[in-house]
Amino acid sequence: DSPIQRKPDWIRVRAPVGEVFSETKKLVKDNGLVTVCEEAGCPNIGECWSQKHATFMILGDTCTRACSFCNVKTGMPAPVDHDEARRIGEAVVTMGLEHVVITSVDRDDLDDGGAQHFEDVINAIRNASPKTTIEILTPDFLRKAGALEQVVDARADVFNHNLETVPRLYLSIRPGARYYHSLRLLERVKERDPSQFTKSGIMVGLGETKEEVMQVMDDMRSAGIDFLTIGQYLQPTRKHAPVDRFVTPEEFRAYETIARAKGFLMVSATPLTRSSYHAGDDFKRLRAA
Ligand code: SF4
Ligand code: SF4
Repeated sequence: DSPIQRKPDWIRVRAPVGEVFSETKKLVKDNGLVTVCEEAGCPNIGECWSQKHATFMILGDTCTRACSFCNVKTGMPAPVDHDEARRIGEAVVTMGLEHVVITSVDRDDLDDGGAQHFEDVINAIRNASPKTTIEILTPDFLRKAGALEQVVDARADVFNHNLETVPRLYLSIRPGARYYHSLRLLERVKERDPSQFTKSGIMVGLGETKEEVMQVMDDMRSAGIDFLTIGQYLQPTRKHAPVDRFVTPEEFRAYETIARAKGFLMVSATPLTRSSYHAGDDFKRLRAA
């Protein structure tokens, strides 16, 4: 076990209260939906849910992997709930979402890694709310032949897959995943459908160096990745990887400047940036530009 370090002053989180927050919570619960906001214990839940921003997590609440930074539970997941696609479509309409983010646990137990379900959910949202833009944050589909192609062909607007950390730290932070596989996955998305925006993100404060972060940025740009998110890693419980250090707001600003210079179309780099944080606002701004 690693004791949880005290957070610095610049990591301030608004308490989850208010009418819209409660409405969002009720809607999620009444529709039997799962959100990464809750499952991952996201620090932005107060802010996001008060603005009806939520990230839906499909394919259940139990993951077949056990990344050492992640609060989602590990185990043998339940069978796929095929009605989930319809309920998400309805929730998007009820909430009036202009942009929706869909992610999932990793389903190494399924032959297609959950690709069919991703396609079903995208189709259900398109049918229920054709104007809503869809961002997916996918697992790595490692050893799932044809899965990536199927999901790309379902044509979300933004295809996000997080690299999470620098390659040197994969073994301790993201065992079961492969850095170059994930990078190549994003490159393959662009090759197959250049009209989809690709997006990726990393957490900092895990022991990476600035040079390593810049190398990841270069790797991402070589793979044609359009959007980048960088946020501070926060340790969810004593059982998770400890925080190595809290990266200062000045360092985040420097990362943002460097990333823009390297040609990313959209960059969010702040201590509380998460891959779905303000995703809709940023995307809307980009399209209007
Ligand atoms: Fe949910 Fe993403 Fe907002 Fe966190 S940043 S509360 S995961 S929408
Ligand atoms: Fe968490 Fe994703 Fe790792 Fe599963 S694969 S433990 S959901 S980060």
